[in-house]
Amino acid sequence: MTSPPQEDRARRGLSGSTLGNNRDSTRQHNLSTVLGLVHSMSGVSRAQLTRATGLNRSTIAALVGELVQLGLVEETDLDQAQGFGRPSIMIQPGPGTLALSVNPDLDVVSVALVSLGGHIVNPVRFHTVRAPSVAEVVNIVTAVYTGMRTSLPAPHRIVGVGLAIPGLVDAEDGTVIEAPHLGWRDQPLSALLAAALKLPVTAANDAVAGARGQATFGAGRGASDLVYLYGGASGIGGGVISENRLIRGATGFAGQLGHTHVRSGGVRCTCGSSGCLEAEITREELIAAVGLPAGETENLEEAVLEKLQDESASQDLRDIIERQVQLLAIGLRSVVNLLNPSLIVLGGFLRILVRAAPGALDAALRTPGTRGPRENVSIELAPLGEDPILVGAAELAFEPLLRDPAGFLRPQHDGGSTPVAST
Ligand SMILES: [Zn+2]
Repeated sequence: MTSPPQEDRARRGLSGSTLGNNRDSTRQHNLSTVLGLVHSMSGVSRAQLTRATGLNRSTIAALVGELVQLGLVEETDLDQAQGFGRPSIMIQPGPGTLALSVNPDLDVVSVALVSLGGHIVNPVRFHTVRAPSVAEVVNIVTAVYTGMRTSLPAPHRIVGVGLAIPGLVDAEDGTVIEAPHLGWRDQPLSALLAAALKLPVTAANDAVAGARGQATFGAGRGASDLVYLYGGASGIGGGVISENRLIRGATGFAGQLGHTHVRSGGVRCTCGSSGCLEAEITREELIAAVGLPAGETENLEEAVLEKLQDESASQDLRDIIERQVQLLAIGLRSVVNLLNPSLIVLGGFLRILVRAAPGALDAALRTPGTRGPRENVSIELAPLGEDPILVGAAELAFEPLLRDPAGFLRPQHDGGSTPVAST
């Protein structure tokens, strides 16, 4: 399930292009466009909506009025942040519309409610002593979600569950085809969660979810061609957005950039090949180098940077980072030559390689005399932590609502929708 082009453009931000249409027959499209802008900008003025959509002021007022009635947006205080000039009414996402994001990984199950506008409300990181089974994930998420609901303000609505998986997900039914680091194969996690929570579940690869989050809210907002690369406990995943569209491939598995070949005769990979990026560059190598105990791995970035301050004790660590930077650059060169992105966003432990060796990745990527696609690509860091994945997972759940706000909330929707969807 990919976004229709108009929705992608709506999420892209206020580019000044004409997005809307005044004909009544396109009211659904206009409602979707306006909600998409309020969502991706986390609040806009009526004047901004008028400029961005090309719709007249009375049409914008009517559309916003309908979204207010639906409880999806709120008209709030005047925007006086500028301090002078004519104030404008701000339209912000209503805080009561939420998605449940779930991201199981090797040693933690992350669960959070995310409100429209991409704000994480109450993240919970449930640590596990070993890779959780599918049944354990269902139990953990059910228990956490039950606890979360008791503290939610009324009124609220949970539109669905976005499930970010460190592995391959079936594009048709959300089945986890393979998550090698978790030891999962052909697991109907989406269906089990949908049954347990009585909510529609949409599943995708974690880095694909992260790419969507970045494209909508993060470092990648406004970039029409970006590659998101995420390094976690379960390896390295990627998501590719080209010409504003998420690249899925014939069967939905495009963007497996962790399996880009970076070294001949290299380390054996879970995919059966060897010398893949995710086999050569691992979070575990860095954890071991700084001697971080299990349970404190979310502090890895700070621990690495701290240890690098100590000149005498850190040569091993420097060597590892130097090696990882060079191998990552080899992988990125292939990615850039293949896809010609304007932006590469690095998330998870891959951030460390940029922060620990400022400029090194850039220099390795752009060898002297570089021309062509590598000349103009820039590298940015995703926000710290799991947030980009959780915000991106929520995007999966929000998609049907954003596509047709009024239709999604019609009473018959509940009876007519399928409990499980996938992307
Ligand atoms: Zn591989």
